[in-house]
Amino acid sequence: MRTQPSAAPAATKLAAPHIVTELPGPRARALIERDGRVTSPSLTRAYPLAAESGSGLVVTDVDGNRFLDFAAGIAVASTGHAHPRVAEAIAGQASQLIHIAATDFYEPRYVEFSEKLASIAPFAEPARVFLTNSGTEAVEGAIKLARYHTGRPGIIAFEGAFHGRTLGALSLTNSKIRQRAGFGPLLPMVEHAPYPRVRSWREQTGGDGSDELEVLRRTILGRILAPADVAAIVVEPVQGEGGYFPAPRAFLQGLREICDEHGILLVADEIQSGIGRTGRWWVMEHAGVEPDIVLTAKGVASGMPIGAFIARDSVWTWKPGAHGSTFAGNPVCAAAGLATLKVIEDDGLLQNATRMGERLKAGLEQVASDRAEVWDIRGLGLMIGIEFHTHQQAAAVELAAFERGLLVLECGESTLRFCPPLIVDGEAVDRAVAIFAEALAAGLAGGVSRET
Ligand code: PLP
Repeated sequence: MRTQPSAAPAATKLAAPHIVTELPGPRARALIERDGRVTSPSLTRAYPLAAESGSGLVVTDVDGNRFLDFAAGIAVASTGHAHPRVAEAIAGQASQLIHIAATDFYEPRYVEFSEKLASIAPFAEPARVFLTNSGTEAVEGAIKLARYHTGRPGIIAFEGAFHGRTLGALSLTNSKIRQRAGFGPLLPMVEHAPYPRVRSWREQTGGDGSDELEVLRRTILGRILAPADVAAIVVEPVQGEGGYFPAPRAFLQGLREICDEHGILLVADEIQSGIGRTGRWWVMEHAGVEPDIVLTAKGVASGMPIGAFIARDSVWTWKPGAHGSTFAGNPVCAAAGLATLKVIEDDGLLQNATRMGERLKAGLEQVASDRAEVWDIRGLGLMIGIEFHTHQQAAAVELAAFERGLLVLECGESTLRFCPPLIVDGEAVDRAVAIFAEALAAGLAGGVSRET
């Protein structure tokens, strides 16, 4: 792997955000009206972005307004929008073979992408890979594999977790009640343990996770779910939708110890945090903790729908026919994944994520230092959350940022997340911080109070 990032391709160079119409503009308004007539009412658009195209760090809407994208399609466009090498891989593969069904037939891209993912898996034991179509399917697969391998039904997840929307994954999801309401009964024998919410910018609260480990040991495993009934503990090492909370290293180490003690599998859901976003391939590497299964999706193929559950060789005790999928590991998606991982390696994007993350965090800390409405700023690499005291404050600043040409996205109860493409450069970071400073002033000017 090269240590110095090469020059970003021309398409990734920053074209300044440029707002040329009122927002939403006339074409966006027309599209939003049509969308409202035919799409599922469950979709939750935070602000009226109607995207037409994307190049590098910039998204252009249907009216020609340009936005600097620090949301990356929910932490997905890891190499930026339409990275030339990824786009080329997709186009080349599409004209060669779009589909064959890897559950039933052999196919080179499927093998090559699996080999590549196995080679970066965060454990010493050799890895095997099952490719999926999405994050939630990676979670489903991990639940099934853990149950099959251990012969146990129970799963422990965490308060505030987000693992997806299909019924198994939804049983673990715990971040917002509207995501669960009306869908029960969900999986039985799933318990949610407390997750450490560490705030260390303005205040030092949250500790090292030992209190939460104690509740897990004493209350959950001591009174509710017998350890011998638990197949897996599923954890996001940086909680994503729940509010961008990195787990303390000691907490992840404690989970590993509990798993080892009781023969429970440790599953790291790195669907949002993995593939270089925090400056390493996986957050678990920062903590020096090896999971038994790691999950990926989102940024792994720059936006093509593919994910994976990757487990130690010894965990795959299931037999032919136990699990499969028609589309999953589709050659076009696998080609995009291979190109994405190669761009990340060739262009030194892990190192870039660390460097740019530090620059972004320092910039945000500076512009927020005299704003009492900002409660905390935290994160690892390019996974940074800025937490307000209220949802209203976060939403007002998010909208003000959009109106000034910067895309960020709320998570948790009142946090704005910054998760730009890993190709982001210093110029773009500084520009985003400057726009954010204006958005802070404008969004909070209406006196959105702490109490609202
Ligand atoms: N797990 C985590 C940590 C996520 O952040 C998400 C999506 O936000 C998922 C699982 C579900 O992924 P998908 O939306 O691709 O089903």
